Amino acid sequence: MDLDFNLDDWITKKMNGVSRKFDDAYWREISRSRKFPDKYWDALAGEGLFGVLIENKYGGIERGLVDLCLATKESAEHYAGLGSYLYLSGSLVSKIFSENATPEMKEDLLPKLARGQLKISIALTEEESGQEVSAIQTKATKCAKEEFVISGSKTFVNNADLADYLLIFARTKVIGSVKKTSGLTMFLAEADSKAIKKKKLEKLGMDFVNNFSVKISDLRVSSSRIVGVEDEAWHNIVKIFNMDRVATSASLTGTGRLALSHASKWAKDRKVFGKSIGANQGIQFPLADAIAQIEIAEAMMLKAASLADQGKTFANEANYALLESSGASQVATDRALQTLGGHGYYRDYDVERYWRDVRVYKLHPISEEMLLASIAERSLGLPRSY
Ligand SMILES: Cc1cc2nc3c(=O)[nH]c(=O)nc-3n(C[C@H](O)[C@H](O)[C@H](O)COP(=O)(O)OP(=O)(O)OC[C@H]3O[C@@H](n4cnc5c(N)ncnc54)[C@H](O)[C@@H]3O)c2cc1C
Repeated sequence: MDLDFNLDDWITKKMNGVSRKFDDAYWREISRSRKFPDKYWDALAGEGLFGVLIENKYGGIERGLVDLCLATKESAEHYAGLGSYLYLSGSLVSKIFSENATPEMKEDLLPKLARGQLKISIALTEEESGQEVSAIQTKATKCAKEEFVISGSKTFVNNADLADYLLIFARTKVIGSVKKTSGLTMFLAEADSKAIKKKKLEKLGMDFVNNFSVKISDLRVSSSRIVGVEDEAWHNIVKIFNMDRVATSASLTGTGRLALSHASKWAKDRKVFGKSIGANQGIQFPLADAIAQIEIAEAMMLKAASLADQGKTFANEANYALLESSGASQVATDRALQTLGGHGYYRDYDVERYWRDVRVYKLHPISEEMLLASIAERSLGLPRSY
């Protein structure tokens, strides 16, 4: 198989210059205060790193998914952990617009996205439909020649408090008149509209981002704010959701490495029973096994990213990469916590935060069960189970 990983370390070095300015203490404080990491965001923007998937003509640096993954992994490993997710989500949002927006929308939004001057949150998930995206109930009805009115409820929306825009997925055709995966449309709506009410949700980890349920009542949106083709949102977005799985893998393996670097240092320095705890194989072997799992997950992540950059099919590899990296990062953070012993349970030592944060990736952006269901169907030819 021809796999060009294109591992030039230009982007890693560039990200390294930023990420090393934001050390463990910075991220610990962000987590404690539950504040958005503005300075980190601004530093990424200042280096043009949000433009990695944006064409030069719109102010981007026009690279591919491999580079996005390398930069994300570097940021996660030194020292953002899953804070690096903000970088990759900002970048992937730009891809939605590069691939789907009208020329006018691209001219307007892409340069601002490249400069980190816009935040756009995705409002897809609904309480009733869960993982079954095609079952969403939010409805957009054409009310005039060039206008829709949208009503419905969304949940778990990242950063809805800071977003300039929400990218709202709504049903524009009822199931029955079209296939389940058709009849969905993406609308770009101003997040501060009076027709949008947000309620903050409390959650286990990922404290650098707030999540909201969102109620949308008779929101009027011009048809010029449709992103992609009316009724075809699912087909317009599916490749980018697969890219998101790959880039998320990079965030996870980087976080796993970060946890293991804390654990290895602790294992060398901490002396109990007259020697370093790391001199015991009972401490060494779980950590050695964890780093091997991270390496394997990274190989799959890079394979998936490389296939994507070559324009080849990469959906199966994206599933494998996310499955393996979420598993490997959970093993790594759990074993790191165990290595730190009681200290691992305390906030001052950071590892408990990585452990809490990676847990979400067995549920989001797709659950482990749905990944396995897709793998069983696509890779093994078993009947579709969902
Ligand atoms: C921190 C966080 C941030 C998020 N950010 C966003 C965001 O910004 N925007 C957005 O739109 N969404 C967001 N989401 C939503 C997320 O992507 C998922 O779609 C959502 O969490 C689905 O959860 P649910 O509990 O409703 O799933 P459910 O569908 O209710 O599933 C519950 C459980 O049942 C299992 N299950 C369901 N069906 C099957 C089946 N057929 N076979 C086997 N198992 C099955 C699932 O795997 C899961 O374990 C976020 C979620 C979280 C946790």
